[in-house]
Amino acid sequence: MEKMTIQDQRTLKYNNLKMVLDIIRDNERISRSEIARKMRMSATSATRIVSELEELHFVEDTGCYEDTKGAGRKATMIAARAAACYCFGISISDVEIRMRLIDFSGKLLSDRGEAQIEKNSSPEKLVEKLYEMFLVLLEKNGLQAEKIAAIGIGITGNVEPAGGTVIYGDLLQWVNVPIGDMIEKRFGIPAYVDNDVNCALMGELSQKKYRNIDDMILLSYGRGVGSAILSQNKIARGSVNFAGEIGHMIVDHTDGRLCYCGRRGCLTAYISEERIIEDARKNNPDVKTIDDIISAVQAGVPWAGILMERICSYAAISINNVVCMLNPPNLMLGGDLIDNYPFLFEYILNKCNAVMYGPMKPSLKFYRSELKQDAAIIGSALIAMDKHLEKVLREHCDI
Ligand SMILES: [Zn+2]
Repeated sequence: MEKMTIQDQRTLKYNNLKMVLDIIRDNERISRSEIARKMRMSATSATRIVSELEELHFVEDTGCYEDTKGAGRKATMIAARAAACYCFGISISDVEIRMRLIDFSGKLLSDRGEAQIEKNSSPEKLVEKLYEMFLVLLEKNGLQAEKIAAIGIGITGNVEPAGGTVIYGDLLQWVNVPIGDMIEKRFGIPAYVDNDVNCALMGELSQKKYRNIDDMILLSYGRGVGSAILSQNKIARGSVNFAGEIGHMIVDHTDGRLCYCGRRGCLTAYISEERIIEDARKNNPDVKTIDDIISAVQAGVPWAGILMERICSYAAISINNVVCMLNPPNLMLGGDLIDNYPFLFEYILNKCNAVMYGPMKPSLKFYRSELKQDAAIIGSALIAMDKHLEKVLREHCDI
């Protein structure tokens, strides 16, 4: 056997610490012997790693005993230390900003910050507003800024996560805005940025029932139309982070409606919130919101029924196209349109039945998003927490 270099040993140590910590954070409480079993290592090794994590103040002995049958000394259970540190999760659309805190165990704290923003807000103004909300939430939770390990930001548009930059935000009308850097400087806390739909997907998948899912596509229909692709537990990004940009997939070349990107027939031109309302107003100028349209649908108003039919048909066409391209095992529908009007999920699925390429249907499982506006907040906060842990453990292991 080849001799392990010091670097190999450090990497091994890092991997073990990270894996054991992930197992502990994944469970409400767990015994050392159960960790040893899951890690396929000796009880002595598991105990040593847990002690190291205790010294780093990430985990603690709960004092509760393992529920084991038979004689012998019962072992105590350990758990993540909820107050070890906290992360903020922020979601930014073109009209709203939202912010919440998660503790180290991943639990969402109840207070939330929300504000409407003016359309075409400057990045500077937006960061100031976020900072105000941040101070209020710290005070409400009795936390010092030092307890905040990192900030995660899920933002609409094309994002380059490594640099924390919005390369192109069509709804925000931003080009090359280093929003991560700006927040990091203003808050004095490391910030990590990703596209809001990517964050929403990670938020949804953090629910326990999805623990074994490594492949899922989230299609999001709301103010913007977008998607996130998780393939073998990695977000697919494409060469310049545009992967999943379904809003500008051409779905109707004959009608050829003009999209704000300057081309004709893009999906966004048919089913983004603004365009749906625009369409409805041609029939009833009093319509102001999607709510108004849904009420008209439910009251049996003919134009509203026809409009809703068309929206669901275009959604089904987009689903078919994505499925033909990527053949995913799991597909989730989300975004404001689905979150606020869950019955549309069934409606779109019915349309899919008619529109989708038949041979693909049996292998595809559909899901509906459940965390609504919190999905991107939770996802971004969890991404930030993960980055923070990676940094601390790497420093601890000298790599
Ligand atoms: Zn377009």
